[in-house]
Amino acid sequence: MAKLTTYQVTEIAKDTWVINEAGMTAMFLLKGTERALLIDTGVGMTDLKKLISWLTPLPYDVVLTHGHPDHIGGAAQFEEVYIHEKDEDSLKPINYDSIADYVELLGNMGAYDVYDCSPADIRRIQKMPKCLPLKEGMVFELGGRSIEVIETPGHTSGGCCFLDRKERILFSGDACNGNLLCRDSINTLLGALDKIKSYESEFDRNFNGHVGYAGMPFVGSMDHSIMNTAIRICENILSGTAKIEDGGKNAFDGDCKVATDGRIRIVFSPDRLIDEGEIPVR
Ligand SMILES: [Zn+2]
Repeated sequence: MAKLTTYQVTEIAKDTWVINEAGMTAMFLLKGTERALLIDTGVGMTDLKKLISWLTPLPYDVVLTHGHPDHIGGAAQFEEVYIHEKDEDSLKPINYDSIADYVELLGNMGAYDVYDCSPADIRRIQKMPKCLPLKEGMVFELGGRSIEVIETPGHTSGGCCFLDRKERILFSGDACNGNLLCRDSINTLLGALDKIKSYESEFDRNFNGHVGYAGMPFVGSMDHSIMNTAIRICENILSGTAKIEDGGKNAFDGDCKVATDGRIRIVFSPDRLIDEGEIPVR
């Protein structure tokens, strides 16, 4: 059976596209009247400058929701990218071998059945981009459209979401999804999820960074109930009432645990419920 090329571009709102890169990860391009904004850079299989030039002639900025390999793989195609300082080390330099491992993992989870791709397609560019700071409250003015930065640590310490009030969309990277890996404390993650929820009246749709995950032919936003369930799981972990299973050693250097509620799961370190010095959010 013929397979799809390594990326598909889908219009999800006016002047707004999702770029699904081989079921590995999703990027988003937003356009105003003056500028455009690329959110995340995928695993690095795609010639992003060429792709963006097809969609808009406008100048643009590149922002990264966080420093994980599946979101920064194409960052070196650009001269400069915005990233939170706490995730900056992931670009010094980009670990392309870990991206290749991730591609192989997702490929074998179903993406190779759908997309004609392999780790050899990753563009291993060695010249790293200049890192520009992403901070809470920063606004990218695109012309008739403002995109606000919301710091959301938890999945990574430097994780950020992007709120588009005009189209009422939140672009949340991996900050809140149905299979949520927590690399900070659960208390920190809960604080970030509370924060996302506090903006709930300002977005109708929440696109995370994995539209079309592992070859699933789906381009859509995430149900708000996932955010509410993730909050409930964090609360239950902290109160000792969560349903917790052993998660093996994959996600952390030490043991990790998995707390579930229906189909929603949070992977976390049992040693990091509330870090020393943190103010409990509940
Ligand atoms: Zn991630």
